[in-house]
Amino acid sequence: MEYYPVYLSLREKRVLVVGTGECALAKLRLLMKTPARIEVYGVDPIDELVTLSQAGRIHLMHRDLNHHDLDGAELVYAAQDDDALDSKVANQARAHGVLVNVVDNLRNSDFITPAIVDRSPVTIAIGTEGAAPILARQIKAHLEEFLPNSLGRLTQIAQKFRPNAAALPYGRPRRAFWSEYFQKKGPQAFDQDGETGAYNALEGLLDKHLNNKRGDGFVSFVGAGPGDPELLTLKARTLLHQADVVIYDRLVGSSILELARREAQLIDVGKTGFGPSTPQAHINKLIVEHTTAGAHVVRLKGGDCTVFGRIDEEIDALDAHGLSWHIVPGITAASAAVAALGHSMTKRGRNASVRFLTGHDMKGFADQDWESLAKPNEVAAIYMGKKSARFVQGRLLMFGASPQTQISIVENASRCDMRIFETSLGELVQTLHSNDVSGPALIFYGLAPRQAQSQTHPQNMEFA
Ligand code: SAH
Repeated sequence: MEYYPVYLSLREKRVLVVGTGECALAKLRLLMKTPARIEVYGVDPIDELVTLSQAGRIHLMHRDLNHHDLDGAELVYAAQDDDALDSKVANQARAHGVLVNVVDNLRNSDFITPAIVDRSPVTIAIGTEGAAPILARQIKAHLEEFLPNSLGRLTQIAQKFRPNAAALPYGRPRRAFWSEYFQKKGPQAFDQDGETGAYNALEGLLDKHLNNKRGDGFVSFVGAGPGDPELLTLKARTLLHQADVVIYDRLVGSSILELARREAQLIDVGKTGFGPSTPQAHINKLIVEHTTAGAHVVRLKGGDCTVFGRIDEEIDALDAHGLSWHIVPGITAASAAVAALGHSMTKRGRNASVRFLTGHDMKGFADQDWESLAKPNEVAAIYMGKKSARFVQGRLLMFGASPQTQISIVENASRCDMRIFETSLGELVQTLHSNDVSGPALIFYGLAPRQAQSQTHPQNMEFA
């Protein structure tokens, strides 16, 4: 981030625009929304500028800029649409220590004006540091559609009501009150009865929240999906926005954690298969402590939290303390992996069931019903199977599986560094070693990647 975003107060400040043509006019549209005194320098102004000046919205100076004008100015826009003239203004401004923007000249500018979504006092600024203005415009269009027009008014009403809301305890109760207003009650009431409706809705809502004082903590067990943030559920996103505390595992990537509220406490209890880990008893204790203290805890786990996630132990600990919880499912690694392979997990005439199994459990290698799995056309998603690959291979061969049984390995499923390897039961261990599969990997027993699908895969994916 080379450009540091700030919101600058322009109350009682002077902003100078040098230029009297279309280029200057374009800059004025946004500036005129602020309380700044806007001085426009240059001769021969276009008609629109004269009209604005007559309406008292800008001060047309009818002369060129001189360096005394720069004394005490807050910002300068060089907007003469002429490189040489604009550069001269930029140099003058810098000599006076005033920040300058040269229109359409990123390199000669000290600051840039972002694309804006205006729901004042809610103002969303979108900047790409000049890298992709078209993208900024797309994002803007998206947000314009998504944010109700009434948002600004609702926020102003909320601002007035703020002192009353102090009657609610700080933290979760107050947040619950405001989120119900912004997400539900406010827009509804505003649509029906305008500002008075929204204000009345706030009063009703405060009464309701004051009278059911629920300061109790709560745990959401949330599946974070296989890694791609777009594979989070909407519920997971909302809960991440609301959580006071997020306790997460190693498999949860930083792009997902960034969706948590800025004030939320993030606690890493990462576990690595066979490696160093936070003892489960310690994790249980942490969850119980934060929940007892009244926090909304999001227990975030990779994939689906109910698949090889050990949440039962955590649930037992909560139940033992009479604490409340719920489960929000996520997309498990097997789903992401099979999608990348271009297959469905079950198929008429091939397999009517699919098994999710683990290569190892807490005691070591996990025993399975190898005999039935060794039969033709069986499909299984093997989790945590890298270290136990030799064991799994040995058992299946011993029970009569063909060494030619198709196997796919999907490493980092759904992430931008995903790799897919096609192999067979006989070659499984060798394939894992020779390709140095070090990320989380799902081994699909009984399925080969559908090569025809490869064109639609990300470019950086490899087929072995
Ligand atoms: N709850 C998780 C699984 C946890 S066990 C889920 O539902 O996906 C951890 C194992 O899951 C890893 O050893 C690996 O086998 C698999 N895994 C998790 N994320 C993966 C990913 N993005 N790509 C491939 N395998 C993954």
